[in-house]
Amino acid sequence: MKPSTDRNETLFEQARRVIPGGVNSPVRAFKAVGGTPRFIRRAHGAYLWDENGDRFIDYIGSWGPMILGHNHPAVVEAVLEAVREGFSFGAPTERETLLAEQIVRLMPAIEMLRLVSSGTEAGMSAIRLARGATGRNKIVKFEGCYHGHADALLVKAGSGLATFGHPTSAGVPPEVTRDTLVLAYNDVAQLEAAFAEHGSQVAGLIIELIAGNMNFVRATTAFMRRCRELCSQHGALLILDEVMTGFRVALGGAQSLYAREIAGFAPDLTVLGKVIGGGMPLAAFGGRRAVMEQLAPLGPVYQAGTLSGNPVATACGLATLRQLQQPRFFETLANRTRALVDGLAAAAREQSLPFSADSEGGMFGFFLLPELPRNYAAVMKSDATRFNRLFHGLLERGIYIAPALYEAGFVSAAHSAQDIEATIAAARAVFAELRNK
Ligand SMILES: *Cc1c(COP(=O)(O)O)cnc(C)c1O
Repeated sequence: MKPSTDRNETLFEQARRVIPGGVNSPVRAFKAVGGTPRFIRRAHGAYLWDENGDRFIDYIGSWGPMILGHNHPAVVEAVLEAVREGFSFGAPTERETLLAEQIVRLMPAIEMLRLVSSGTEAGMSAIRLARGATGRNKIVKFEGCYHGHADALLVKAGSGLATFGHPTSAGVPPEVTRDTLVLAYNDVAQLEAAFAEHGSQVAGLIIELIAGNMNFVRATTAFMRRCRELCSQHGALLILDEVMTGFRVALGGAQSLYAREIAGFAPDLTVLGKVIGGGMPLAAFGGRRAVMEQLAPLGPVYQAGTLSGNPVATACGLATLRQLQQPRFFETLANRTRALVDGLAAAAREQSLPFSADSEGGMFGFFLLPELPRNYAAVMKSDATRFNRLFHGLLERGIYIAPALYEAGFVSAAHSAQDIEATIAAARAVFAELRNK
């Protein structure tokens, strides 16, 4: 055993006795890549330190929220101030309105929103609202998109075209996923066929515009145009899951990018999380006023939460969103992220490795594939063994990327040009090893 993993090993063993798999969210266990997860003791800026005191340049950023880097002083200050005033009241606070106003101002498609505590909760509530508001049951989702772990969304495509989904988890009764139609991402013909057959029963279509849960796959403009048109024609709600992309790829989310390409493009509902909490448990769903007013206490769709709009979380979210509105914030972040992706691609090319990469704002993805994949089936053609060697090679060199090939990466405002250069240099060394083995 390498001495540098000693304490991680010990802690992992200890954790596994009382926590299933030793982790509170499965991907943290390193099951896909093997080896021992690093137990993180602290973080600052672009860096994480594990329990051995080893430092890593962090490209996970808590899976997206840490867009300013860790412990941004203005955010820390806002959180400490909020903590001193009390952790939770279970009663309305001014900050909830301030945060809602900020989001409504930055995302024009959102007229009203409700705060919740996790992206899963937000996605689940948006689905219930879509069903309640339309009086219909069926939901359209796409293979490879992740919308949290609500029962109705833990589905994969059945065999054959346009069949209703099968549960991807034990414990989800087939009746619960029977109304979820799972389609291939970016497949216009299949989408049209599905709406032709089921359109009048579809409550909503939920999608990631940039699917960060199959690493990084963009919905094509033509595909999104059809999604919007078909939803409108059939009276279904278009639900954009921007839990990952919201305030991460652009100030107005990925929808602001598509709205530039597609005239009149706007969702009926948007699901947010991750960045809006700045690392605290906070998420939201919002959209058209008439739809949002169907929620209790105004309307018949029930939805609630003891810790919803938590005062410490809203302080963290507000302080985070304030920083994102500094002049040129996203331009600088996008340039840095682009420099990373271009540098990695050049290093891979030197070794003649198949490699493709893409980025938007502070989000990126790369594949050990010659061309960017357009859907889940193409992503799954990636060479997992090679990815795992890349992952461990980088980790040994102090670069922390997601321990699975179907996860996106994140650059924060705290990543310096030197951090990016150091990362490319490490990748160059690992690529050379990959090629020689
Ligand atoms: C992370 C994520 C979720 C789930 O959010 P949690 O806070 O982990 O429950 C939902 N949708 C997308 C697109 C995500 O990236």
